[in-house]
Amino acid sequence: MSQTNSDHTYNTPAEIDEIHARLTRTFYSGVTRPLAYRRKQLLQLARMLQDNHVAFEDALLADIGKPRLESSLSEVVHCLTNALTAADSLETWAAPKPCPTTAAWRADWGATLHKEPKGVALIISPWNYPLVLTLNPLIGAIAAGCPTVLKPSELVPVFSQLLATLLPRYLDPTAYAVVKGSVPETTHVLGLRWAHILYTGSSRVGRVVAAAAAAHLTPVTLELGGKSPAVIADDADLTLAARRILHGKIQNAGQLCVSPDYAVVSRGRVGAFVEALKSAHAEFWPEGDHPLTGNAPLSNIINASHHARLVDMLKRTKGKIAFGGETHGQKGITPTVLTDVPEDDVLMEEEIFGPILPIIAVDAVDHAIRVINSKPTPLVIYLFTDKEEIKQKFLQRTQSGQLVQNDVVMQLAVNEMPFGGQGESGCKYTASFDTFTHLRGYINISSAQEPFLQGRYRPYTDDKYQF
Ligand code: NAD
Repeated sequence: MSQTNSDHTYNTPAEIDEIHARLTRTFYSGVTRPLAYRRKQLLQLARMLQDNHVAFEDALLADIGKPRLESSLSEVVHCLTNALTAADSLETWAAPKPCPTTAAWRADWGATLHKEPKGVALIISPWNYPLVLTLNPLIGAIAAGCPTVLKPSELVPVFSQLLATLLPRYLDPTAYAVVKGSVPETTHVLGLRWAHILYTGSSRVGRVVAAAAAAHLTPVTLELGGKSPAVIADDADLTLAARRILHGKIQNAGQLCVSPDYAVVSRGRVGAFVEALKSAHAEFWPEGDHPLTGNAPLSNIINASHHARLVDMLKRTKGKIAFGGETHGQKGITPTVLTDVPEDDVLMEEEIFGPILPIIAVDAVDHAIRVINSKPTPLVIYLFTDKEEIKQKFLQRTQSGQLVQNDVVMQLAVNEMPFGGQGESGCKYTASFDTFTHLRGYINISSAQEPFLQGRYRPYTDDKYQF
């Protein structure tokens, strides 16, 4: 029997144990291994998204107020396309890889890497892009042949319930399951043995997940957050940079792991950059429109406590609000830009995760690099410049999951590029199929090889030393 916590039904420990046992039996039965089975599940996943496109948009609207167009493009259609691509690519991805040997005497051993499913996988996802961050990894796990448990965030209950209802109608329920729950349920899930855990969320909880995985020596992929800077070099076109940065910052009201967290600008160009941001804001919300109450309002701040956290930051900052800073009800904050922000300000301590952009004024590129390197390694560095020497400086003297020149967030559009952080922004790249695949080495030393192997056997007579 499920138990009810607040308004939502969560799985009990006994149910979670039963799901884990069921999926483990399925894995060892071998049913998830044939490519035909995997392809069918991927196509069924695509069908689930196609048939229920509007229901998923409704759920994301109800849970986080996400505009339909954003839900459609960046979540539903994105995953649907990925599921179809994976179904088409399966044979290539899963094909065994020959391991050419450099030594002639090993040439006939048939050294090969077989792509094997790791086993029963666990995917724990956050609330900010709940569909894409749950189903994209699932696509990799299905493609790799792994039965999988999905643990979506309790902060998106409508989405979680919809997924829990639809998944068994479309996919094999003996191999794929949703566990609904909050911290106690996730803690129970993490106590079980998994073949791989993929966690997306905050660095704080990433540590909890890594510690739980260590208890079973389970491989883990952590996709975390951090403070990703946008650096505007002196040669950059301020109008373009401002439009692109503001557009990126307001996606999901700044609640995006790769949101530009803060901007770094030469002291002498801060005023002009603020004016360019104001112009971009006026383009996005022409006279009479409003970011929170107008035609296409920003997504909500996920809940009252996150809203209070952002409002508290705005109270405690030593920076000056250049524009924005309006709050509406408990969930909305208008796009807010601040200047005169000290490097050790409250806004520079943790990932902001809201539509607030502090501008840090610097003396030169080297100073910008010092600011970035004084913080934990970011998920991404955005660099606005056309100068090769500046790009090289950043490549050689900074670290980040990715480096993106002259735009923000668009790295997510390059499906082919592995995505992931470094250091505190996470470890291991999510090239989804590879994550859930074990490269199982294989050789076959047939009896025909025996004449070439005589030298290894005892007795170790002198004639065997022929180097
Ligand atoms: P979160 O870490 O609070 O929660 C994520 C998941 O962890 C949820 O499913 C939740 O139930 C579970 N969880 C929470 N506390 C737990 C605990 N003590 N023990 C076990 N499980 C627990 O993250 P969030 O607030 O949902 O998401 C925001 C964070 O995620 C931001 O830091 C953002 O940058 C990051 N993020 C990263 C990526 C990426 O791909 N790198 C993508 C999106 C979000």
